[in-house]
Amino acid sequence: MDDKFTIRFWGVRGSYPTPGNATVRYGGNTACVEVTVGGRTIILDAGTGVIPLGRDLVRRAGGKPLETLLLVSHLHSDHTQGFPFFTPAYIPSTRLHVYGLGADTESLERVLESNQSAQRFPVSLREMGAAKVIRSVRETEEVVWDEDGVRVQSPASSVGRDALRVRIHRSYAHPGGVYVYRVEWRGRSLVYATDTEGYIGGDRRLATFARGADVLIHDAQYSEAHYRTSTQGFGHSTVEMACEAASAAGVGRLVLFHHDPSYDDAKIDEMQARARGLFVNAQAAYEGLTLELTEARVTQVHILALREGTKEM
Ligand SMILES: [Zn+2]
Ligand SMILES: [Zn+2]
Repeated sequence: MDDKFTIRFWGVRGSYPTPGNATVRYGGNTACVEVTVGGRTIILDAGTGVIPLGRDLVRRAGGKPLETLLLVSHLHSDHTQGFPFFTPAYIPSTRLHVYGLGADTESLERVLESNQSAQRFPVSLREMGAAKVIRSVRETEEVVWDEDGVRVQSPASSVGRDALRVRIHRSYAHPGGVYVYRVEWRGRSLVYATDTEGYIGGDRRLATFARGADVLIHDAQYSEAHYRTSTQGFGHSTVEMACEAASAAGVGRLVLFHHDPSYDDAKIDEMQARARGLFVNAQAAYEGLTLELTEARVTQVHILALREGTKEM
């Protein structure tokens, strides 16, 4: 097993996809982040970014069977709309574990099934040929991937050597609720906190959950002016709220995520500059951004070496 913990962004946009020249640098696909940990693939959300990711996973596998863990933050369409087009799910040799937040009355599986009802999509969930385990998980559980495979268990249960663990935090700062995930392996950690709105003085529960993470991916959909005028209560944050969360949690790096679909590249450049004035290690996510966590964090000092791939912004 290799020692790599790599984060790659395939979809960074919130709400709906935004093709076109004005968004070409940051990208127009909706939420999808690939995390590769010791050769194991975890996918955070299945917005339209999961479509090119799926094709790339098949290409990289070169005919070998794929095993993938897909964690869904919540069931809004910008986090699930790519799933019916996720190529590996059509390949019978694929093992696909799909976990996430169910709605109050509907399980994750029921919603994915209904997204692919005959009225909405030509291929049903059942007809996708991969071996699938789909289930809603609880905040009191954790997802573990070790030499025995992928499973959901209570945090007190034992894990194998070199286990990858995903802890869950349920946030109520988004209509319908949302799961924030913390991926931990060999002392390194990533927190994925999309679709969450800040509170005055910061979100203390989130700060506790994200404490000391090497990388925090946080919703930063709006400029403050936009938020004050028309979007308060929609369940998304401003750049200022994201920076406040990063500072309160003492993370190593902040990645601004879930860009507003009405914002062009120049506007996101501005948001990134604003963020860097508030939290030095901040940057806006773009399609193709690749972060590699090459060293473990030691006590309170981050000695992360982060390598950015593909494009320089
Ligand atoms: Zn969203
Ligand atoms: Zn949402």
